[in-house]
Amino acid sequence: MKQLTARPFAKAAAFMAAGALAVFGLSACSGGSEEPAAEGGDEAASKTYEIVADNAFAPFEFLAEGSDGEYIGVDMDILAAIAEDQGFEYTVDNCGWDAAIGNLNTGQADGMIAGMSITEERQENYDFSDPYYEGGQIMIVKGDSSIASYEDLAGQTVAVKTGTQSAAFANSIAEEYGFTVVTYDDSPAVYAAVTGGIDAAGFEDYAVISYQIENQDLDLKMVGDQQQITPYGFAVLKGSNPELIEMFNAGLANITESGELAEIFAKYGIEI
Ligand code: GLN
Repeated sequence: MKQLTARPFAKAAAFMAAGALAVFGLSACSGGSEEPAAEGGDEAASKTYEIVADNAFAPFEFLAEGSDGEYIGVDMDILAAIAEDQGFEYTVDNCGWDAAIGNLNTGQADGMIAGMSITEERQENYDFSDPYYEGGQIMIVKGDSSIASYEDLAGQTVAVKTGTQSAAFANSIAEEYGFTVVTYDDSPAVYAAVTGGIDAAGFEDYAVISYQIENQDLDLKMVGDQQQITPYGFAVLKGSNPELIEMFNAGLANITESGELAEIFAKYGIEI
């Protein structure tokens, strides 16, 4: 079987006492506002950075139930902690993975945080921060499915989210195992396609699907090992906002050192 080295990642353990957490909640990216150019001086001190993020990718970013539109999650907390540490202002638009990438690519957003894997291919277009997490993708099937390996996918359809590492992995093995890849706009659509029996399987980031299965009572189970274990990072469009990457890295080092980063992951039940 053509598989990249996989190793189990620390299991997302603790059950969130807060009860069921909503993962739905879609919004469109608002697009960039015209930022007045900083007139010399300390640009970082005067600029409000526009950050885009995924919207249904718990525990990294998701709409807290009953929160009236407030997005919470590991990425949201890391960004807040780093901005406070480094003293910069920002806004976050949780517009979803695909829209966020679009806004980053066109320069309408200054930076993106979305449980984004730092891949060689992406490094051609984006500058990434130092890693703040590491994880891979895993196959998911409906709870009562008899699919137990990639071999069982022959002739079936497999659900993934557009433009993700899950899509890249599924595409890389589709021919070998004889299945067809079907893309969806967001993670909840992938889960619904699999629980609804529309597609025989799907792929999703391990930390995210573990969290979903534990906290959302989804009728899904994981099959096999994690693939493509890769660091996650904060991204800017290549060559843009170098000071933002510098501040992110400096702040990340500080919150790692202080223990705040570990506290953030622990809050969402992820061991690092
Ligand atoms: N880590 C995965 C990737 O970078 C998925 C990210 C996401 O769906 N938000 O492709």
